[in-house]
Amino acid sequence: MSNKLKPSLPPGGTKEKLVRHVSALLKCRRCPEMIPPPVSGGPVVSRVMSVGQAPGDKEPKFGRPFAWTAGKTLFRWFKEAAGIDEAKFRSSIYMAAVCRCFPGKKASGGDRVPAPEEVKTCSAWLDRELEILRPALIIPIGKLAIAQFMEVEKLDEVVGKVFHLNRGGISFDLIPLPHSSGASPWRYSAAGKPLLAKAMSLIADHPAIKEIK
Ligand code: SF4
Repeated sequence: MSNKLKPSLPPGGTKEKLVRHVSALLKCRRCPEMIPPPVSGGPVVSRVMSVGQAPGDKEPKFGRPFAWTAGKTLFRWFKEAAGIDEAKFRSSIYMAAVCRCFPGKKASGGDRVPAPEEVKTCSAWLDRELEILRPALIIPIGKLAIAQFMEVEKLDEVVGKVFHLNRGGISFDLIPLPHSSGASPWRYSAAGKPLLAKAMSLIADHPAIKEIK
């Protein structure tokens, strides 16, 4: 673990900046093909940030990320490995995403994958969140989220490891997770199961997670 990543409080004024940021994010309508409203986990000041992919159709109705089945699985992983249940997760970890709006359904069924232009447009919100929070630990959930930080061909190559990264002058640890939706069977595979367990153990042992436990 890099010395720069020792847990510490975010800079002063962070809460006010984050409240303004989330308020502006919720009004965003930059992508014409996306279905508003944007979904946010709220202005939770934290040194830990999760990055999901994009909300499904249920999340805008509940007004929070990971509000449906993928959330149940994700929160179970955190409860079992780190003792962090859903309420603690939502109140202690800043929940970001690659895209904050529901992309809609594909003609063939299933959720549309956000277009590269939409990912690029929405990444401005993520960059600003990094600036405001200066997280010590980022947990991208799913390949699309991992790909915002590093090249990823196969989940086997990145899950179960800690990466020390820098983006926009901000240093942080990255511990990738597979997506927790039923549409991502990798986590049940012979290769995926132990790597997921290893990733969750690395998360549970990370100093920034220990700060919130
Ligand atoms: S996906 Fe992101 S950039 Fe696009 S409209 Fe929604 S919040 Fe705005």
